[in-house]
Amino acid sequence: MKRSTWIATMCLSGAACALSVSAQTVKVTPLGGIDGEFCAQDRALIFEDPNGTRILYDPGRTVAGASDPRLGKIDIILVTHMHGDHVGNAHNKAPNSGTCENPDTSVSALPNSNAVNIAIAKKSKIVTGSEMPPFFAAKLKANGGDPANSILARFGGSVTVGGVRIATVTAMHSNGLDPDYIGGDLGKAMKEAGIAGDVGLPTGYVLRFSNGLVAYLSGDTGITADQELVVRNHYGAKLVVMNIGDGFTTGPAEAAYVINELVKPAVVIPSHANEVGTVNGKVRPGSKTEVFIKAVKVPVHVPLSGKTMEYDATGKCTAGC
Ligand SMILES: [Zn+2]
Repeated sequence: MKRSTWIATMCLSGAACALSVSAQTVKVTPLGGIDGEFCAQDRALIFEDPNGTRILYDPGRTVAGASDPRLGKIDIILVTHMHGDHVGNAHNKAPNSGTCENPDTSVSALPNSNAVNIAIAKKSKIVTGSEMPPFFAAKLKANGGDPANSILARFGGSVTVGGVRIATVTAMHSNGLDPDYIGGDLGKAMKEAGIAGDVGLPTGYVLRFSNGLVAYLSGDTGITADQELVVRNHYGAKLVVMNIGDGFTTGPAEAAYVINELVKPAVVIPSHANEVGTVNGKVRPGSKTEVFIKAVKVPVHVPLSGKTMEYDATGKCTAGC
């Protein structure tokens, strides 16, 4: 039976119809600083596969610790690199604390990190590349978790966890581990010398969900040849989460070049803007987010915190955009 015929047949039975159709989309929910806005510190996204697997990408500082009620079940945590705004050296007291420009991230997550604290509470697997897995395994073990829940996906290969294929790809950035995560005499000596720990290269991710959707999560990066060679030519990413903040990573012009000329996806979600991107849910005139939207040739879906967007295998948004 053709799939369209199968769905039509299922639709005769009402509720089952709704289930069979919606079950084919990947749900993307931003966990930002302020509900309904795109704010300065926003990085965290939850991807929910049609099979129910829930993935938290770069929890950063806007996820209000492991008890944030927006988290729900978290099966997998992805961390592109160890900088505090991605792994989470501190975090919000609660969702919506502080302002869009200056969230109240006064709760320290050192020496563990927000990512590790969430992983312990949710019994999540942490999938990272480079030399990051041993760091996370040691942190899990030190806090009563299972070090085997720290899983490696190094460049070139992939691992399938919860039915989602996860690969890491090049990110041109840095990845020093702040000595505050190390602590003790060693951490103190490193801090005094101004030296960071070495946990290998930062990464981006390519995810293949069970409905066939392929998503590229850029992480902090400059323009790389792999964005065309690997992300587009090999993996064929249709949905991109692209960092646009400038200074630390691609700015709006560079990010637009990556989208228009290198990856050429069906749709893009900007991230890591380091600004007030929206006011009352509307893109702020003069923002980097606006510059990016104007420069990009494909639909841009601004990640408004708490608003779920759904994507089919082709990267078409079927709800919430
Ligand atoms: Zn960053």
